[in-house]
Amino acid sequence: MPKFAIRTVAVPLLLVSLAGAATLPTPEQFAGFRMGTDKKLVRWDRIVEYMRLAAAASPRIRVEEPGKTTNGHPFLVVTISDSATMADLGRYRQMQRRLAYPGDLPEPEAGPILERSKAVLLITCNIHSTEIGASQMALELVHRLATEDSPLVGHILDNVIFLLVPSLNPDGQVIVTDWYAKNAGTPWEHSPLPELYHKYTGHDNNRDAFMNTQVESRLINQVTYKEWFPHVFLDEHQMGNSGARIFVPPFKNPVNPNVDPLVWQLNGLLGYAMGAALNDRGYAGVISDVQYTSWWQGGFLMQAWWHNMVGLLTEVASAWVATPVEQLRARLGEPPGGPDPDAGRGREQLQTRDPRRPLPAPRDVTPRNNYPRPWLGGRWTLRDIIDYELAATYGLLEAVASNRRLLVRSFYRLNRKQIELGRKEAPYAWVMPRPQHDPPAAARLLQILDEQGVEVQQAAEGFAAGGRNYPAGSHVVLMAQPFRAFAKDLLEKQTYPVQRAGPGGAVERPYDVTGWTLPLQMGVEAVEIAKPFEAKLEQLKSIPAPPGRFESGAKSTAGYVIAHNANNASLALNRLLKAGHEVAWGRSGIFVRTKAGLATQLEEWSRQLGVDIQAAATPPGGGRKLRAPRLALYQSWMPVMDEGWTRWLLEQYEFPYVTIRPPDVKAGSLNKRFDAIVMADQSKDSLIKGVDNEWTRPELRGGLGPEGVAALKEFVRNGGSLITLGHSSLLPIEEFPLPLKNALKGLRPEQFSCPGSILKVFVDNTAPAGWGMREQASAVFYNDIAFEPAAALGDSAVRALARYPSSDLLQSGWIGGPEHLHDRIAAAEATLGKGRVILLGFSVQHRAQPHGTFKLLFNSLHAAGMSD
Ligand SMILES: [Zn+2]
Repeated sequence: MPKFAIRTVAVPLLLVSLAGAATLPTPEQFAGFRMGTDKKLVRWDRIVEYMRLAAAASPRIRVEEPGKTTNGHPFLVVTISDSATMADLGRYRQMQRRLAYPGDLPEPEAGPILERSKAVLLITCNIHSTEIGASQMALELVHRLATEDSPLVGHILDNVIFLLVPSLNPDGQVIVTDWYAKNAGTPWEHSPLPELYHKYTGHDNNRDAFMNTQVESRLINQVTYKEWFPHVFLDEHQMGNSGARIFVPPFKNPVNPNVDPLVWQLNGLLGYAMGAALNDRGYAGVISDVQYTSWWQGGFLMQAWWHNMVGLLTEVASAWVATPVEQLRARLGEPPGGPDPDAGRGREQLQTRDPRRPLPAPRDVTPRNNYPRPWLGGRWTLRDIIDYELAATYGLLEAVASNRRLLVRSFYRLNRKQIELGRKEAPYAWVMPRPQHDPPAAARLLQILDEQGVEVQQAAEGFAAGGRNYPAGSHVVLMAQPFRAFAKDLLEKQTYPVQRAGPGGAVERPYDVTGWTLPLQMGVEAVEIAKPFEAKLEQLKSIPAPPGRFESGAKSTAGYVIAHNANNASLALNRLLKAGHEVAWGRSGIFVRTKAGLATQLEEWSRQLGVDIQAAATPPGGGRKLRAPRLALYQSWMPVMDEGWTRWLLEQYEFPYVTIRPPDVKAGSLNKRFDAIVMADQSKDSLIKGVDNEWTRPELRGGLGPEGVAALKEFVRNGGSLITLGHSSLLPIEEFPLPLKNALKGLRPEQFSCPGSILKVFVDNTAPAGWGMREQASAVFYNDIAFEPAAALGDSAVRALARYPSSDLLQSGWIGGPEHLHDRIAAAEATLGKGRVILLGFSVQHRAQPHGTFKLLFNSLHAAGMSD
């Protein structure tokens, strides 16, 4: 391979010389062990080093670092193709953009571009960090593509531009590798990770795909929807380890109606190509059409479907990081006798199974169409995972190369078809009128669309549509655009199609989120336009955050009133409190007394944060003096994603807080340190007992215990505020106790189920927790709880802060047994002694999505700093 020789001079010390030609070392030479060797892992910094070596050694490889991760590690995109293509990547990117936004480009004119374009394939690895295999696989994959001159590799390089993200969460790769290295070979080899493997989102990091809040999400969405518009997107995961060895598409029903059927067919084509490659190698346990549905926007690869791209998933059975697992063997076609040891055990209970013991034999051993050769048990190692991933990945690379024309043409045609659909059928557009209740939230919604390739317009003049007049400046999302399906899907209400196990069979309940409508979640008014209309519109290049209105007063001004309809008012309030200003907080706004330099500062914040500020001659009535509350956020020994999201949100809105762990609570005297303690959504059992098993490191066992519960109760009695989200509310209501009970307690899943929908809720906006909110809001209900009054005991009094209606509950998604929520209390405040417990039963801050209900949390925090 003489063409490599020129570039290798740059790093001669790190290259191995073979037969006189300098080449890239194999991953084994580089690491000192074969990838997937039991109990050995390559850490992210070394992966980065290897990718850079590959780029230096081969003109087929380029490594780019579009940014740093949350914890400051390099985030890499490795581009791989033949050297001629690599020398001309800019031109290929331009062609991709032209096909992504074809406008009225007719097919005969598009012909030369379609002919010259390469198939663009994006593969992301290791977003879930304990699913470590793909990060190790990436080295062998790159080595072979960089060095081999076989017909297969030549075919791939000729036809494909391959974008490889060796880890979509490098921070987590480091966390997991270090934790594993610390414990491997000790009695704690199976001790679970004590922190979230993404600083704020943990395993939820793929759920951030459309909301795009985290650094890594923004980087990958930028690559996908601003730079490359790949035709095919594969995300490589790992799953549980008791059954099938690998999932490949097609996905399971139901299908989302906004996605074009051609996308599903191409998913099947390429999914089966991966399955065929695995079976070609004789690998058992390849399964399709199970568990993972074609319904929701639950990850980056899925989002590709609504962008007319093929979106693929692989899920390989897991080892215990790099420790092999053993499984008892079964016989083909003969399910093991006796009762299923896992029957009736939920996900949480399955995690309590001793990982050091062999797994029970597989029970699903009957060959069938979507599982032609079942897995029958045995030993399973990290190397097996890598082998399966390599087989699936090469199967895909070959199929993408062989189907280049089909993939390129389909993407172009689908994009044109969506434009056509938007021109000739309803809805024609969505209009976001001005003014909005929370203008920065409305702008953020439009930014989310823009960041993912949606074109956003603004009205240059007032116009009429659907029988209503809209002023100039209103935003419009026209449906006549290539990524129409994506915009429509995020803007409209979801209606989940009920699945039944056969005709007349039992309802198959969805296992995950069914409704995500962003205008509802974010409290933004967005009007669907069902008839054609005329308007003078200008396409926006970017969506600026709207400045607020600032009205300075005369010299005699006593102070300023900050309107608190926008969430950013809470942020402005935190800045005022931090700066030591005299603040009074009331139902009609935040009043701050005049001080030298204040007006200039407020004017700047008003512009920056989009909050309206007005001079006031006198303070408005009813305000209460406010100081900065001393806040604590509880963190158990075992990581909880909702705690991470809550922490992220507190930081975004500049709430100062302290993280407290079980011993801090048990030590008592909490009022000396804090005014408010927040507990994120976590089961009561896990809060009180924590983890207690012999394979977990001793220092990570246990929870709050009775002493912790008593200390929290004392904290409230002495005047503290305890703010509980979701299931953590069960701790105070059942253990303090409070005169409330869980309205859903004891209901079986077939009686009530709501795994992720949007529900109508009424808010008491005369209570501090509801200040600044409208009377009706949308609640994200994600397997949450609700309350009803229980017999009074002691001195506690309850006030409902939010309540579900008695009918028309569901706004988007699916719910089974809605009557169990009718008229129930959604959020409540219970006084106890001198303090109070704020119980937020639904997911007010779920994955940082429902901007429309953040205030219930923010206001509850500020209320803890309010004078009586
Ligand atoms: Zn995963």
